[in-house]
Amino acid sequence: MAVAIQVPATVERLLDALWSHGHAAYVVGGSLRDALLSREAADWDFATDARPDRVLEIFPGAVYENRFGTVAVPWGDAIHEITTFRTDHDYADFRRPHRVEFGDDLLLDLARRDFTMNAMAWGDEAPASGGSAPTPHLVDPYGGAVDVEARSIRAVGDAATRFEEDALRMVRAARLAATLDFEIEPATRAAIETHAGLVSHLSGERIAAELEKLLAAPEPSGGLRLMADTGILAVVSPDLAAQRGIAQNKIPGEDLLDHTLRTVDAAPAGLPVVRLAALVHDIGKPATLDDGPFRRHDAVGADLAAGLLDRLHMPRATTDRVVHLVRHHMFTYDPTWGDAGVRRFIQRVGPPALDELFALRAADNVGSGVPANAHGLDELRERVRAQLEASVPLDLRHLAIDGDDLMTELALPEGPVLGRILDALLERVVTDPGLNDRETLLLLAGSILAGDR
Ligand code: ATP
Ligand code: MG
Repeated sequence: MAVAIQVPATVERLLDALWSHGHAAYVVGGSLRDALLSREAADWDFATDARPDRVLEIFPGAVYENRFGTVAVPWGDAIHEITTFRTDHDYADFRRPHRVEFGDDLLLDLARRDFTMNAMAWGDEAPASGGSAPTPHLVDPYGGAVDVEARSIRAVGDAATRFEEDALRMVRAARLAATLDFEIEPATRAAIETHAGLVSHLSGERIAAELEKLLAAPEPSGGLRLMADTGILAVVSPDLAAQRGIAQNKIPGEDLLDHTLRTVDAAPAGLPVVRLAALVHDIGKPATLDDGPFRRHDAVGADLAAGLLDRLHMPRATTDRVVHLVRHHMFTYDPTWGDAGVRRFIQRVGPPALDELFALRAADNVGSGVPANAHGLDELRERVRAQLEASVPLDLRHLAIDGDDLMTELALPEGPVLGRILDALLERVVTDPGLNDRETLLLLAGSILAGDR
């Protein structure tokens, strides 16, 4: 199969440098696959017979990336990763190889790769001295180019064996199906269905890395549906998998999982925290099915989401933001709210989370079959903006007095009473920002104190 491959000038330069130093050099992996698809690759992967220390010599400024001998060359905007040909050994516990061995053979290197579309190379061996210039060509031992053309994900070799070696490949299949809009070939898919349970042996970090890429796809629902239908989701999150079959009176004929997937698709791809929050926003519903129904699913869901994201070793800050959104996702706006009501809403949610919460609600609306701005969302957003623009006092830092003022002016001792009075003052000021001056607040503090006694 004749293929034309366009690579950036930096990629050509890098191949040339390896060849001119007497080494084999190929573009491999996802970047080659993406080049065949005319998709822009963000990072370029290279394979060579040069050992890592040699690569470091050839490319001043290059740095060692990991113990598997990958060296990164920071040229231009793209990442260039050069990995020495290797073979993998001693797969144990259905995870990554315990030992890798450097080699001189491109074909052995391609054989260890997961899918045919990822097991191609484009480049050439080292030129013989005095011989003709290298002529880059496609090396495609497993028919990857045909599978790319057919948009098909097919395991290299026997799928079951490959998933027993490393169960992450099953998660990668679902992720790549979503990011590339590919289908999983039937035998590969059947092997995922029988081997999905092995995903339980994987570390949370490795699953999370694929999940994050999946959630950045234009429409993650395809990949998530694959995870649900093959049994992977039940291993990663039994609570999410339990959404299948739970009725929702939202879109006729669709269940709770369908609602979740629609919500994820509707969340902006550029807001990963909101995408993740969309995935878990109703994670508490199966557990609260009988209490109301779904009563307190926001609070229950916040705890379940925290548990899931902790197991996946998501960064603390990400988990906190997502859990916060789940906890607050059930607000109902009523146009009769006064401005004080809007301010209390801002106070409850916290200004930094507002944009993300509105984005989540817009997605939740679409996932429920109503317009993104249904239930007065636009109006609330606008009223919130107006309050924030007016710099209204919202927390203790904005009060015109502090604990020291209370101690000196009212001769109060240090202690919990100070905090109680400040909180009460803030509540009054949120309701009526006009009260926020020193004189008025000291008077109010005096009367609160008198009332306390
Ligand atoms: P992306 O475009 O999202 O980076 P990718 O296919 O390049 O997709 P990477 O994680 O960057 O994904 O992996 C680079 C290459 O390494 C893959 O194309 C594949 O050849 C190989 N690879 C990655 N993970 C595995 C694995 N678990 N088992 C076998 N081969 C793998
Ligand atoms: Mg890659």
